[in-house]
Amino acid sequence: MRLSDAEGVVSTRPYDLPMRRGAITRKSVLKVLAEHDELGREAFLTKYGFGEARSYVLVHEGQEYDSKAVAGVAHKWDQGRALTPDEFSGGKDHAAAWLKRVGFEVKAIKNPDWARDEIILACHLVMQNGWKGLDAEDGRVVELSALLQLLPIHAEADRNEKFRNSNGVARKTFDIATRHPEYRGKPTNGGVLDVAVLHEFLARPQEMTEAARLIRQGITTGELQSFAPTEDEEFGDDYSAPEGRLLMRRHRARERNKSLRKKKIASVLQRGGQLACEACGFDFEKIYGDRGAGYIECHHVLPLHVAGEGRTKLSDLALICANCHRMIHRRAPWPTPAELRASIEQKHADDRRAAAALTRPRRAADEQMPNP
Ligand SMILES: [Zn+2]
Ligand SMILES: [Zn+2]
Repeated sequence: MRLSDAEGVVSTRPYDLPMRRGAITRKSVLKVLAEHDELGREAFLTKYGFGEARSYVLVHEGQEYDSKAVAGVAHKWDQGRALTPDEFSGGKDHAAAWLKRVGFEVKAIKNPDWARDEIILACHLVMQNGWKGLDAEDGRVVELSALLQLLPIHAEADRNEKFRNSNGVARKTFDIATRHPEYRGKPTNGGVLDVAVLHEFLARPQEMTEAARLIRQGITTGELQSFAPTEDEEFGDDYSAPEGRLLMRRHRARERNKSLRKKKIASVLQRGGQLACEACGFDFEKIYGDRGAGYIECHHVLPLHVAGEGRTKLSDLALICANCHRMIHRRAPWPTPAELRASIEQKHADDRRAAAALTRPRRAADEQMPNP
């Protein structure tokens, strides 16, 4: 029954036309909700092959619906066939966003995973507490809970009413404490990131403490609220900044400060220098001509936990090409431009040696070949 039904719909649409995923209307969503109410939740999900929503529910007239299934099935009315679950995500990139766009309320079922910044703050508290977990009633937990709710990391729409409440924060302190190498017992829970941050604290307590202090201070003063997310965050790349996303945002903002970059470039030119990458020597004008004239990026050489308050000095900025800049930020700890230059040179030397090793024995063998 279900198959022929679906086939009938598909045939009304030329099949080489791509689905326009997400192009759904409010009207079709309402039709889907009506069908859902008529069939009942289980039968509805079974009919279209969807599971129960795991991250978001659609709330309509006091009722909760599996948002991904609803969004997928709405395509039947607007696009000729329902989307299958593997064609899109239920999250804020797809289903939740589409439903919100046509005016529905979408609620997060589960709060977002803890980001590195949040774990840094929790871990710092655990460290101050002699690597022991703290209870939900503890004043320091209550204070941290309030602070975490101010962090500009997770969108309001992804949070529910329990977001980083005292219970959740207390639980996190135990997750961290029970992962300490000297803890004798079973770890309560927690993920890879908890363990990673804990080990960062054990390996470099001063630096991580300073990072925690800077994050706290930046939130209190409102400074860290003003920076836009970096593109590394969009790639889901949290490994470039052990000190967290917020300090990374500030770092990037400082590097991108137009007037500082102009001053830096002017000072280099004034001293008769060239706008070439300090790591690999790349000169944009040499390669791209006019289009590249005057172009170079600036890299702030002070690590996140060092570059605290205070203004950026021109000497904190290094001229760097776009490729080298990416490579520096790709993984922590960041190499200095000089260190990157050394590793480039090392790589060249290794390559030359490998190439020489390949040609040498052949030549030797050639010489040994008897003349015909
Ligand atoms: Zn370069
Ligand atoms: Zn940089």
